Amino acid sequence: MSSLADMHNGTFDAAIIGGGIIGAGIARDLALRGARVALVEKGDFGGGTTSGSTRLIHGGLRYLEMLDFSLVRMDLREREILLRIAPHLVKPLEFRIPFVGQSAWFRAKMRVGLLLYDALSYDRSLPGHRFLDNAETLADEPALTKNGLCGAGSYFDAQVSMPERLCLENLIDAARHGAVVRNYCEVRSAKLTDGKVRSLHVRDADSGEEAELSARIFVNATGAWFDRVQTALSGAPSRRLRTTKGIHLTCAPLVNKANVLFSPVDGRLFFVIPLLGKTWIGTTDTDYPEDPTGVRADEGDIEYLLRSVEPFFPAIRSLPIYSTNAGVRALVRQSGSESSVSRLHKIEETQPGMVSVLGGKITGYRAIAQEAADAICSTLGINAACQTGLRPLPGGGSAANGSLYGTARES
Ligand SMILES: Cc1cc2nc3c(=O)[nH]c(=O)nc-3n(C[C@H](O)[C@H](O)[C@H](O)COP(=O)(O)OP(=O)(O)OC[C@H]3O[C@@H](n4cnc5c(N)ncnc54)[C@H](O)[C@@H]3O)c2cc1C
Repeated sequence: MSSLADMHNGTFDAAIIGGGIIGAGIARDLALRGARVALVEKGDFGGGTTSGSTRLIHGGLRYLEMLDFSLVRMDLREREILLRIAPHLVKPLEFRIPFVGQSAWFRAKMRVGLLLYDALSYDRSLPGHRFLDNAETLADEPALTKNGLCGAGSYFDAQVSMPERLCLENLIDAARHGAVVRNYCEVRSAKLTDGKVRSLHVRDADSGEEAELSARIFVNATGAWFDRVQTALSGAPSRRLRTTKGIHLTCAPLVNKANVLFSPVDGRLFFVIPLLGKTWIGTTDTDYPEDPTGVRADEGDIEYLLRSVEPFFPAIRSLPIYSTNAGVRALVRQSGSESSVSRLHKIEETQPGMVSVLGGKITGYRAIAQEAADAICSTLGINAACQTGLRPLPGGGSAANGSLYGTARES
């Protein structure tokens, strides 16, 4: 059977463009509500920004400083849900904020931040924050500098080591519930009647086969590619996003906990984290208006991270760097410095018949998908409740009923 054969089988309720975590989440949510769903992805599922992320499931301490309280609260609530529905993929992770040469004012600010973070995660299963002296800090993190060390703050968030798997499991469950999902199929253009999208023109990259994908409603979930896709589909230039690049380095094991550090280069917050037996360092945040498909770490990005880590972990310069990876953030367009742009998502009807998701984090993907699916179901007259907050992902099994923190820690 050709890969696009199923696309010709009449009209779908919803056709989703983009098989990253957001598109996958929407496909699962809609399929579980009984909608007939199709999803097409031009590359590997989860191979876009989803695979270029720092892999944290977190409210984001940094966003407190930006006063994005609703974003932090949503993501802390979603962190709990993901620990419950995907305990095999999302694991608790202890973070440390080592105080190295910082002022008493900085430490006081961190104390207030951690108190607020705990208050906003009032429904958490993870331990609350605490403070450590130098001996405790160095016992866990022997490679940390002793120069100017003044203890550390500790708090918990979570990590998804393989966000691509989180994405795939959403798609597997969507397919089990009748969704037609295809990768290496790119949406090239749209057929419009009176400005309303009626069908999408899809091309299979392997076979060269082409098909018209008809649906009652369409979803643009192409993340950092949004403006390019929207321009191709509507014929009018779209400039809704600000896209910024972030990179990571993978090096030999250096840390035991997830370290939150502030770069001496520009004061930005970044992470040095244990990941799959190695150390993962990132990220950067620089405007990147080019095609996200070609994003790569360059020498300047790598040197910035090495210079940022060096004062805290001097051994970094002697460790081998195994690999780099890069991703492009899709941020709802705002002026100001890259790091000051809100990470809050937006769901809009960007042209008649097309619902678009702009921005959003992996952490909030389930809630974003629910919001989009609620809007789509109300338009289509589908009267079914969202199930994704309660139903474990395929590999989550009955573990989702266990003690969250205990289960993940013991494994
Ligand atoms: C450096 C960095 C660090 C981050 N760290 C975190 C973190 O720690 N925690 C967190 O929660 N979030 C983090 N994020 C944010 C998070 O990664 C993204 O918000 C999320 O992955 C976006 O998912 P998405 O599905 O919208 O986009 P994507 O994963 O990019 O998916 C969009 C898909 O659309 C496809 N596509 C594009 N055009 C077409 C077309 N014409 N036809 C078919 N398919 C098409 C693309 O191939 C792509 O796979 C980070 C982001 C970056 C860049």
